Amino acid sequence: MRIAFFSTKPYDRRFFEAANADSTHELVFLFPRLTAETARLADDVDAVCVFVNDELGRPTLEQLAEQGVKLIALRCAGFNNVDVPAAAELGLTVVRVPAYSPHAVAEHTVALMLALNRKLHRAHNRVQEGNFALDGLLGFDFHGRTVGIVGTGAIGQCVARILNGFGCHLLAYDVHPHPEAEALGVRYVTFEELAEQSDVVTLHCPLLPATHHLVDAAAIARMKSGVMLVNTSRGGLIDTRAVVDGLKSRHVGHLGIDVYEEEGDLFFEDLSDTIIHDDVFARLLTFPNVIVTGHQAFFTQEALEAIAATTLANVDEFERTGQCGNAVGDR
Ligand code: NAD
Repeated sequence: MRIAFFSTKPYDRRFFEAANADSTHELVFLFPRLTAETARLADDVDAVCVFVNDELGRPTLEQLAEQGVKLIALRCAGFNNVDVPAAAELGLTVVRVPAYSPHAVAEHTVALMLALNRKLHRAHNRVQEGNFALDGLLGFDFHGRTVGIVGTGAIGQCVARILNGFGCHLLAYDVHPHPEAEALGVRYVTFEELAEQSDVVTLHCPLLPATHHLVDAAAIARMKSGVMLVNTSRGGLIDTRAVVDGLKSRHVGHLGIDVYEEEGDLFFEDLSDTIIHDDVFARLLTFPNVIVTGHQAFFTQEALEAIAATTLANVDEFERTGQCGNAVGDR
């Protein structure tokens, strides 16, 4: 198949060319993000391959379908950026990579927790400047603390396994509790109980209408004073303005995010020479107890190999059978 890649970065090209070495697919690498305007660049292709911030609303999908595209291959797990019913209506099959390396995201999540707790970002800067004072760097033992995991699928369970090793008490909220998580010692509670009892709250559920702004002002008010909030799932799970208020009042003690609800205009690009116009995001960067990473939790060698291999296997399966086990929605 001829496949147009949108939002291509050098690493996408490297890993996909390696995965395609024994295959006959023709890969066309494009730099722009997919939008209704850039969809025309997918000229004379059977499939488009897209990432988390490509926009696949109805206008984009209509344009792609009109150009003869048959397959949308997401090189990620989440599909909140795709209008799935519209795709089905237009005869477009949408496939994804449901699990590539839950370890990559879980390990980054725990890295954020530990860095925030022991203030590694500040400690590093101090030492670079010859300041070896410890005032302001006081942390706590994770051992014995209660961590609330929202969403106990592949990544949430991996986080649970790691934190088990630290001796944490683990609470979880999930619309579909998993016996495997319970076997790890996780105790399922309501979202409200989790918010009230956890020292650390970490988000691992998908972004859906039901989970949009799951962490809003009311949820934050329920949380313990000084709570650590970590989000490596999708930005829209958190009402960022509410969390900024929580940080200003010190009710939120630490925030670690790898995703941001308006990240589409920021992440994956070098903007170091430009002015950031998003004042909410800029405010976040002023807090000493906030760490933001630019959607890099997935970014390990193992994950990129698995993403490329599964994406091309999805394309192969669709080409062979007209269907795919990793399809999203009804088709
Ligand atoms: P998964 O499908 O294995 O698990 C998701 C879990 O969330 C499931 O147990 C599901 O029952 C639960 N869930 C669904 N709706 C819920 C709700 N309303 N309330 C509470 N729980 C709910 O997915 P996963 O592989 O563990 O990935 C989780 C999320 O991580 C993805 O949706 C994606 O958005 C995000 N992610 C981020 C990165 C990154 O680089 N930052 C990489 C991969 C995935």
